[in-house]
Amino acid sequence: MTSHVNTNKAAVLHGPKDLRIETRSLPTTPPAGHVHVTVLATGLCGSDLHYYLHGRNGDFALRHPMALGHESAGIISAVGPECPAQLSVGKRVAIEAGLYCRECERCQEGRYNLCPSMRFASSAKTYPHLDGTLQSTLTWPAWGVHLLPTSVSYEVGALIEPLSVVLQGIRRCALANGERVLVTGAGAVGLLACAAAKGAGASYVVAVDIDEGRLDFAKRNSWADQTYTLAKSAPPVQGEEPAVTMGKAQRVAKEMGEALSLDSSAGAFDVVFECSGVPSCVQLAIFSTRPGGRVVLIGMGSPIQTLPIGAAALREVDILGVFRYANTYPLAMEMLQRGELKGIEKVISHRYTLEEAGEAFETLARGRGRDGRGVTKVFVVAEEGEE
Ligand SMILES: [Zn+2]
Ligand SMILES: [Zn+2]
Repeated sequence: MTSHVNTNKAAVLHGPKDLRIETRSLPTTPPAGHVHVTVLATGLCGSDLHYYLHGRNGDFALRHPMALGHESAGIISAVGPECPAQLSVGKRVAIEAGLYCRECERCQEGRYNLCPSMRFASSAKTYPHLDGTLQSTLTWPAWGVHLLPTSVSYEVGALIEPLSVVLQGIRRCALANGERVLVTGAGAVGLLACAAAKGAGASYVVAVDIDEGRLDFAKRNSWADQTYTLAKSAPPVQGEEPAVTMGKAQRVAKEMGEALSLDSSAGAFDVVFECSGVPSCVQLAIFSTRPGGRVVLIGMGSPIQTLPIGAAALREVDILGVFRYANTYPLAMEMLQRGELKGIEKVISHRYTLEEAGEAFETLARGRGRDGRGVTKVFVVAEEGEE
């Protein structure tokens, strides 16, 4: 018989805004091929917030209580049988939150993010849902954890998850040294996109957003060379002719180019990372890309949009989708070790303990902490001395 200890705490969502800190039983020894990770840092993501507020994320509704969180790092506290020798107690690891079958065609060709059998922590897409990482101890397959170099903190280790989505985009568009990059949307992912584009060799990075504070932040940290504040657009006019809408987006692209003193007659950017999901920004992205350039859709926006497809197709502007990531953790570790992503932990604006997870989500929902500071990224971290 397996002996159990009752020390695992988890932030479990039971329904909209019904987040409970529960104590669960945990076997003292992980199953074969698994490790226990004492989770020390977890970033909260937009999808977690959707589940927290609405009990669903798009089409995927909560069908039973589920622990939230999927951006985590921690320390190995127990090792099950049949685990690789390098995974011993005390090793620091980042947790990759998706469990794929490792056998299907997509997995075999290295695109496991597209695995039809993918189970992703804290996603209600599959049933039963796979619990998320907002737990004090996570039981996880050994092949789903990545050793953290000593120079990389737990918080940065956790940030590798959202960073991975960006790195997937960078790989999809084969970003080359010296290219000019536009990032639309300067939330946490947009900021990481700016930093990663710089780290990956972009010579010139421009960030645009409607929030000037976020843009200042990007500039202060040298993640963006220049920024441009977009006017808060009026809500789309019902029944407006698409040509009129596209004309507006084209005008914004032109005005932005002029404000930045760019020759934007044919599109000034080699690559645009679209991180807002807002249709007017996707349109702007296409008009701002040079002939033969690439638009990478990183933001999860409305699934049906009207786009100036001619302005893309007739100038061979490739529109690339990104769904999560595959094989990005080793790449992130290399970039971090080479010092190419210095200071990315500064995107973390607020920190709470696991017990305070509810308040952490409320802060994310408000977009502002009780301290009055605007939210870029909310983290749940272990208290001092907990490790
Ligand atoms: Zn996420
Ligand atoms: Zn598969």
